[in-house]
Amino acid sequence: MDPSERERYSRQILFPGIGERGQEALLRSHAVIVGCGALGSFHASALARAGVGRLTLIDRDYVEASNLHRQWLFEESDAAECLPKAAAAQRRLAAINSSIRVTAAIADLTASNVTELLGGADVILDGTDNFDTRYLINDFAVSKKIPWVYGAAVASYGLSMPVLPGRSACLRCVYPNPPEGAQPTCETAGVLNVIVSAVASIQVADALRILTGAPLRPRITTLDLWNGGIRQIDAPERDADCPTCAHGEYPYLEESRRPPASLCGRNAVQIAGERMVDLAALGQRLAPLGEVRANEYALRFIAPPYELTIFPDGRAIVKGTGDTGLARSLYARFVG
Ligand SMILES: [Zn+2]
Repeated sequence: MDPSERERYSRQILFPGIGERGQEALLRSHAVIVGCGALGSFHASALARAGVGRLTLIDRDYVEASNLHRQWLFEESDAAECLPKAAAAQRRLAAINSSIRVTAAIADLTASNVTELLGGADVILDGTDNFDTRYLINDFAVSKKIPWVYGAAVASYGLSMPVLPGRSACLRCVYPNPPEGAQPTCETAGVLNVIVSAVASIQVADALRILTGAPLRPRITTLDLWNGGIRQIDAPERDADCPTCAHGEYPYLEESRRPPASLCGRNAVQIAGERMVDLAALGQRLAPLGEVRANEYALRFIAPPYELTIFPDGRAIVKGTGDTGLARSLYARFVG
């Protein structure tokens, strides 16, 4: 550490949990943040300020005005310019800490780019909004023995859990399958801005312990900042029969999983269905957000300039774009 670094991080070095050795470890570390929205933009800011030497930010979406109430790194000008979140975050982080290296990947994390984007990480932080990407992170992280920290928040509640491959339960030990049916999302159920920073803070604290080599007891933290209640329980034991961390099966790393496909000449993208969707319940949730038309075969949701047609098996056609990343993002937002 040079004198300017010693001064810059002096209050963090004074904190006995980190100390000089911990700070040196942070400066040498590489953290990857998947999803740079509400959770991820907080992770990025906190880790940049803490002096994590290398950050990689991955996000497939653009800044919109409706993000600004909870996505701490972004400003009105980012939304006005429709900047990709990863690029807007990279720009802001350069102003926060110019001495670290920040890489922005404007991309949808998939089996085909996961090695390139997550390889070499010392820790991975989950800032995503969907289970498909979380299972992909879990499969990759467990296969490469990279610790990662799961986090989720919606409405006024949220939870987090670190996954320490080989030592603690992985995501699939806890959730053997993705949750059934459409899930509440920030776009359908709303979100209180401070729950995302609270969950993201717990994730960052775990990440700092991992990067500095401090012992970490894997716990599931759940909290609700509106109705009250903070609970921490020890993460469950690893499932001796877990396909991922016990048997080494990583289906999300296989290219054979059906990726979203752009529908040629139609300015539309098809998303393959992963699970059954209750269209009546989905229609009720979406009704306040736009025009919903439904019959017994499908539900159509019109949110100009896009139109989503969702089938009971979860398959959807997103009209108004040929960009598969954007279509997946719309699907995650509205269907869950
Ligand atoms: Zn497992």
